[in-house]
Amino acid sequence: MAEEIRVRFAPSPTGYLHVGGARTALFNWLWARKTGGKFVLRIEDTDEARSTIESVNGMLHDLTWLGLDWDEGPLYGEGIDPLKQQKGDKGPYFQSQRLEIYQRLAHELMDKGVAYPCFCTDEELEEKRKKAEEEHRSVHYDGTCRNLSREEAQRRIDAGEPYTIRVRVPQKDYALDDEVRGHVEWKAGTLGDFIILRSSGMPVYNFCVVVDDALMGITHVVRAEEHLTNTHRQLILYEALGYKPPKFSHASLILGPDKQKLSKRHGATAVGQYAEQGFLPDAMINFLALLGWNEGNDREIYSVKELIDCFELGHISKSPGVFDNDKLLWVNGQHLRALPVEELIPMVAPLLKKAMPDDKRLDDPVIMQKLVGLIQPKMTLLTDAPDVAKTFFEASQPENEEAAAMIATEKSQKLFVALAEEFEKCEWVREGYNAAIKAAGKVAEVKGKDLFMPIRVKITGTCHGPELVGILDVLGREETIARLKA
Ligand code: GLU
Repeated sequence: MAEEIRVRFAPSPTGYLHVGGARTALFNWLWARKTGGKFVLRIEDTDEARSTIESVNGMLHDLTWLGLDWDEGPLYGEGIDPLKQQKGDKGPYFQSQRLEIYQRLAHELMDKGVAYPCFCTDEELEEKRKKAEEEHRSVHYDGTCRNLSREEAQRRIDAGEPYTIRVRVPQKDYALDDEVRGHVEWKAGTLGDFIILRSSGMPVYNFCVVVDDALMGITHVVRAEEHLTNTHRQLILYEALGYKPPKFSHASLILGPDKQKLSKRHGATAVGQYAEQGFLPDAMINFLALLGWNEGNDREIYSVKELIDCFELGHISKSPGVFDNDKLLWVNGQHLRALPVEELIPMVAPLLKKAMPDDKRLDDPVIMQKLVGLIQPKMTLLTDAPDVAKTFFEASQPENEEAAAMIATEKSQKLFVALAEEFEKCEWVREGYNAAIKAAGKVAEVKGKDLFMPIRVKITGTCHGPELVGILDVLGREETIARLKA
């Protein structure tokens, strides 16, 4: 039986979910969903000073908003404590809850001699570092405690001397065949013996990652390029622990339009900000997927399902993705306008009601259906809905002099009077309006453009916009007549 694919997203909860983190989560999620594997969410919160539960909850919220559901990890929802409520049999999924595991394994490595206790104090280490720098020697740990005899080491431990645990780094080359970056090598001698467990009992980051990825059965690690250098230490630790390393894919950085690393300077970088600005999760997913991945052609619009079908790790690109806000807006508009009206209604209804709390027409499902159908083609963001709807709901002045002149003519005035009369008595359905317009046109002796344009301008203020009958559907008889008489 083929090995089950298991991937993970492992955020450090020290802030909000960044678009770069969301992209990493997405690539992992797509791979799991494509292969029928498992997507694990692990919280890397060993930096006690900077990790917060608010950040955890914010990240879980934003992942949920994006639709990136996870098979194992902390649960998220109203009244749920993610620290206590988790799913999956390879937990706990917070690193802060796994300290005993790291400590046990670090001590096992020490017992085997693969690692050793180091009694050098911070001050001594600092001294050594300075001296090495002055003498232009390598600043790696000089190995003072590497060759202490077991007896000597044990005697000092028993005497209560504080110690860290350092792994013995084998003096050999390490190499990686990264699915994205290709063959990567690290030469012997580029690393000294490094600490895996501090004297406080706190494990270091790279040790936790390796232990967790191995014990959680992770088969593929997909993460940002900035972690590539960590992989050297991690490969050494896989070997020390006797675990098989997973396959690695290091995705390129995300840059701003000026080709500098994406930062707040370029605008919003938090997924939550995009949600507030009225972007659709599926559009965000589409856009993020294309930041450093493509199918091998220039297709730009994908549904989530299509992405799952097309996604391949091997197509993650080597060159950096450029975060282009205008493109994101364009992608959002494409997704928004392709939505069935029924799906768009519940997304915009709360925004419309908030903007026009006293407008009773919004409570009528038939009008709502028609209104959303009318405004949809003019929207790019969900948050555009109130302004676009207001142009239909609120009578507006002619948009320019040409429009004003068009409705000021004697013929137009005659037309509006006749049309108001016809509208009073016609049936308020499309055939009814059309018959009424035709009849009023006869009275005022106008046809074609000269008939429809003045009516449109009189009612909406503009020469452009959706078809007139759609507007009449939404406005209703009373409001339409009132505008003709105004
Ligand atoms: N916790 C790390 C981060 O948030 C991820 C580590 C990894 O993916 O290996 O950047």
